Amino acid sequence: MRTVIEPSHEVPVINDVDIVVVGGGCTGVFAAIRAARLGAKVAIVEATGAFGGVATNGFVCVWHTLCDTTLNRQIISGLTEETIERLKLIPHGIRINLPKDEEKHIFRKTTYANYHLNTEEMKIEFDKMIMEDGVIPYLHTMYTAPYVVEGKLCGIFVQQRSGKGVILARQFIDASADGYLGADMGMEVYRHETLQPATSAARVYGWDKLKDPLNILKNNREYIGCRPGWQDELADIPQILNWFKSNVMEDCSIGDCLTKAEITGRAQTRRMLEVLRENDPGAENLALIGLSSAIGVRETRQLRCSYQFTADDLCYGRHFDDAVVYCAYPMDTHHPHKNTAYRYLDGTEEIVEAGKENRLARWREADEYPTYWQLPYRSMLPQNIPNLLICGRAIDADKGAFAAARVMISLNQTGEAAGVAAYEALTSDSTVQNIDFTSMRQKMKNGGSIIL
Ligand SMILES: Cc1cc2nc3c(=O)[nH]c(=O)nc-3n(C[C@H](O)[C@H](O)[C@H](O)COP(=O)(O)OP(=O)(O)OC[C@H]3O[C@@H](n4cnc5c(N)ncnc54)[C@H](O)[C@@H]3O)c2cc1C
Repeated sequence: MRTVIEPSHEVPVINDVDIVVVGGGCTGVFAAIRAARLGAKVAIVEATGAFGGVATNGFVCVWHTLCDTTLNRQIISGLTEETIERLKLIPHGIRINLPKDEEKHIFRKTTYANYHLNTEEMKIEFDKMIMEDGVIPYLHTMYTAPYVVEGKLCGIFVQQRSGKGVILARQFIDASADGYLGADMGMEVYRHETLQPATSAARVYGWDKLKDPLNILKNNREYIGCRPGWQDELADIPQILNWFKSNVMEDCSIGDCLTKAEITGRAQTRRMLEVLRENDPGAENLALIGLSSAIGVRETRQLRCSYQFTADDLCYGRHFDDAVVYCAYPMDTHHPHKNTAYRYLDGTEEIVEAGKENRLARWREADEYPTYWQLPYRSMLPQNIPNLLICGRAIDADKGAFAAARVMISLNQTGEAAGVAAYEALTSDSTVQNIDFTSMRQKMKNGGSIIL
């Protein structure tokens, strides 16, 4: 690769804060708010023009149940529940889906009991929450590099429309999903053997007039694995959200790949609409009215932390003393070009493939099954950087564990834990490795989290 030397120059100090969060997805927003509510001066840096990340800019509007697999015991609260309650107060802000009574299967229960968020209202609500809690927002601001003095992380360089600058801080939270800050600080980066595909989302007018869209798409050989989902989810709103699996297999943490993924994803959306117009007699008025402002990325790379959360930890419901996340969502693996495989806590697994009947099997037999799994703080904790925490998609998890942990009801909690832990390290003059877990978990509980 050809290289040149960038000339060095002075840059302005844009701000000097206690804690800075890189990335304003739900995870980053929740990290910032939790730390700010405890009293820290917090800045959040987001590359796009809105907070929420994949949940808003990517149109991925589903938060799964806050309960364990029995659906009777609530295991998640905190800012996830608070956001749900706030959206309930807004007309068409959220739609709550309960599992059908006749549905006995654990998967149907734990994934069909969910919240469909109005992604646009959520952008506005996140703005409000950020402002109410006194977090200092930086939108259209790209983190570019760490500012390191004598080996110590002291700030982040950012690029704004108006130019470059640095934000100084004492504690840092990497919520960029691709782990940019952690990687730049020398943390080991690894990728799972195969990456789950990225997916473009679209809003389509006229979906409700189509006669048989699901079968037409499902049986279209040209697009094995491409199918729409949740087409009715915002039926209360005169726009229908609808997304297509686009099978974009690029590693979207790499700039050129992300560009290619965006272009490929949009072209696939166009092609899906053509297929519907060619085959569905009700497609006369079918119109594309919105594309997500960024392709939805499921998986890129992970950062090696103090502990790798494993599929066995998850599937067998292993307990951790430093648990900070509780969740019942199953392993949900989208295979490239093939199928989607689910592994549930109750010992069943299911393969969903275009053009085929769903296949059910068992992966284990036991007298008793866990009703939720938990993720330890150690999986977001760098081994030897004293003032940096990782939350969101880049946490340390093997392929199987990541397939479940990647959903928002889980990652949201990593954000909240990071915010509280960074505050704990800041105020106890400690490192993030040496904070008092009991005190940290108590603060999480006091702030509204369920700690089991
Ligand atoms: C198609 C699809 C369907 C999915 N379905 C579901 C589902 O039904 N339910 C569910 O819970 N989850 C689902 N997921 C998974 C879930 O949406 C993601 O795993 C989760 O949103 C990731 O959250 P995050 O905060 O880690 O990352 P993101 O939401 O990606 O947030 C990271 C933020 O960091 C910002 N950023 C990155 N780099 C920089 C930088 N250098 N400077 C400044 N800012 C930066 C980005 O702009 C972004 O806003 C789905 C994902 C996809 C793609």
